Amino acid sequence: MMDEYNGPLLDAAVHVYFIGERHLFTWFAFIEASMARVVILGSAAAVSDAEHDNTHFVLIGDHGPVLIDAGSNPLGKIKDLGIDDEALQDIILTHFHPDHVSGVPNMLMHMWLLGRHAPLRFYGLHHCVNRTEDMMMAFSWDTWPNFFPVTFHRVRERDNTPVLENEDFRITAWPVKHFVPTIGLRIENKVTGNVLAYSCDTEPIPELFELCRDADILIHEAAGVGPGHSSARQAGEIASESRAKSLYLIHYQVWNADPAPLVAEARETFDGPVHLSKDFDEYEF
Ligand SMILES: [Zn+2]
Repeated sequence: MMDEYNGPLLDAAVHVYFIGERHLFTWFAFIEASMARVVILGSAAAVSDAEHDNTHFVLIGDHGPVLIDAGSNPLGKIKDLGIDDEALQDIILTHFHPDHVSGVPNMLMHMWLLGRHAPLRFYGLHHCVNRTEDMMMAFSWDTWPNFFPVTFHRVRERDNTPVLENEDFRITAWPVKHFVPTIGLRIENKVTGNVLAYSCDTEPIPELFELCRDADILIHEAAGVGPGHSSARQAGEIASESRAKSLYLIHYQVWNADPAPLVAEARETFDGPVHLSKDFDEYEF
């Protein structure tokens, strides 16, 4: 009986012994593939300096990147991350202020000069997308020959409105309270179910509780007390009220200012982990 019982077990053990390493590699590769990353490309408020670009970041999933805002030309940074510039095909613009969109013309010109063929899609509110098109027309981009396909997708200005869904992410938007129509974003990793919430530029409003609810990562602005903006203390209050699991402060003052004390300020109102986002920081979710 014992021999009959041990035979298959031994076979199985030997089989696993020979292919185990490969299986382990495959398994780890699968786990790696399931985690998305966000890379902070800029962390400053409207006034940037040499170490802090204007706030923008890139989501990196298994099926390609999604860029959030382009206050400066992010193409070189994306290249440094090992991402092919043609792989970047989706860009969400949160609002039409220079520190969030002024890099678009230069980025599009670079892509064109590099001989790009891949399509590019922009997503944003009517207010932002219309002006982005006008900005490109000011450069007469319709006369630049052999331009690659660019499309503009207008997002409805209402709570929990769909922005973009691909194999990696489901991204929805909420209007927030800034000086021009602006959206905050809720980004769900469709593989892990984890959520990254981004306040964008806003003063505290109740809608943020739903936008940020139970987020694994909350990236919240900390430009200072409003109108139109929030302090680190207020960012901590939003994180607490929405039961976010971690708080990352971004869009803070850097010109003749030390942002380090903002972490302690946010900790006065939020018990969870608080971090100061810096350019090129990477977080998994
Ligand atoms: Zn801003």
